Amino acid sequence: MTVELINTGSELLFGKILNTHQQWLCRRLTDLGYSVTRQVAVPDTGESIEAAVRDGLSRADLVITTGGLGPTCDDLTRERIAALLQRPLHPDASVAENIARYFAGRRLTVPPRTRVETMVPEGAEVIPNHHGTAPGLAMTVDPNPFRPGGQVSRLVMLPGPPRELRPMFNELVVPLLSRWFPREEEFVCRTLKTTGIGESSMEERINDPLQPLVDAGMELGYCARVGEVDVRFVARGKGAAERVAEAEAITRRLVGSNVFGVEDDVLESVLVNEFRKRGLTLALAESCTGGHIANRITNISGASAVLLAGYVTYSNESKVRDLGVQEATLTAHGAVSEETAVEMAAGARARAGTDYAIAVTGIAGPTGATANKPVGLVFMAVAGPGGVVAQRKVNAFDRETFKYLTAQQAMMMLWNALHAAA
Ligand code: ATP
Ligand code: MG
Repeated sequence: MTVELINTGSELLFGKILNTHQQWLCRRLTDLGYSVTRQVAVPDTGESIEAAVRDGLSRADLVITTGGLGPTCDDLTRERIAALLQRPLHPDASVAENIARYFAGRRLTVPPRTRVETMVPEGAEVIPNHHGTAPGLAMTVDPNPFRPGGQVSRLVMLPGPPRELRPMFNELVVPLLSRWFPREEEFVCRTLKTTGIGESSMEERINDPLQPLVDAGMELGYCARVGEVDVRFVARGKGAAERVAEAEAITRRLVGSNVFGVEDDVLESVLVNEFRKRGLTLALAESCTGGHIANRITNISGASAVLLAGYVTYSNESKVRDLGVQEATLTAHGAVSEETAVEMAAGARARAGTDYAIAVTGIAGPTGATANKPVGLVFMAVAGPGGVVAQRKVNAFDRETFKYLTAQQAMMMLWNALHAAA
């Protein structure tokens, strides 16, 4: 079975936005066992969209388009595909209801232009949009006038905004695909999310022990990102689930302390969920990360039950005033020191009255280094019921990467402290 992906949007070709749908959808489709054989990005012109769809339908079993389903004059996907396939557009009541509900929930009147979003090509299935107004559309092109022999193709149109497209794909398109393309053989894909270990060290530790499974046909893959390495197992055919389960068990045995989650987990989500499960609370004392940890934690639904306070104490004065760091500690060791990090964590925990607190203090750079304190030097501490632990790292990167990586390491420290306490 072949899949082709068409990303529409002139802004993609102007380089104004990154085509994240390409990566996200290709990854999801691969994880589901489908092979994407071609991907194109085309501008918002009717001719380009039509030509790309015609082309895709001449080859692929499944063509997915993204973008151009909205109400503005550059949103042409629905109309051009309907015209190409000679399917008249009819208004759909369920879509109109969803749009009315969407605007009523926001205390807004329905803009008249959204009427175009209610138009559905004849024979198409509506894929409801739970996070926006324009629905996705699914159709079976049978007979397919563009494919030699008229072989059937399927076509799915998805909205452009990622926050609409992603849940729609996961919740509604995945079941549709398994209905359309029932799997002939067992397929299992499992991703372990790890942090605190580099890609090559990871490979060194687990490659040989996993070799017998790889020899038996299991695919083993690594994907390194800032502060994280994904380890991915893919197996097909009889016994696939057992082979992947064995690979996971071996990996957890060897690098278990670095594994914080699976699939799309992020550290902040596993932390918030674990804190909630255990009824624990958290405070943050951030200097060099400037609130980045607080930002990541509060991206997670349920954070309000966990995070009681976040202090961004950038100056020495605020470290003393807001966290109770001793002047003497700052004078003797400096703001970027293990001693200060420890007092920041203990101070945040005491002042906010939480079970745990994280503190970070460091030199993001490019300026600020001294003879014995290089750019990227950072101390972090976690205070908890069992006391305070601290660590030193040198994250010599640009400021944004520094913040991200430091937050990653500090959150992993908290994760480890939590597990040590369990
Ligand atoms: P809308 O109703 O918002 O107009 P739409 O279905 O018409 O949605 P587009 O107008 O093509 O979709 O895109 C809407 C927004 O979604 C874009 O401005 C962009 O921010 C984002 N977007 C679109 N395509 C992509 C893509 N391939 N990768 C990442 N973001 C995208
Ligand atoms: Mg649009």
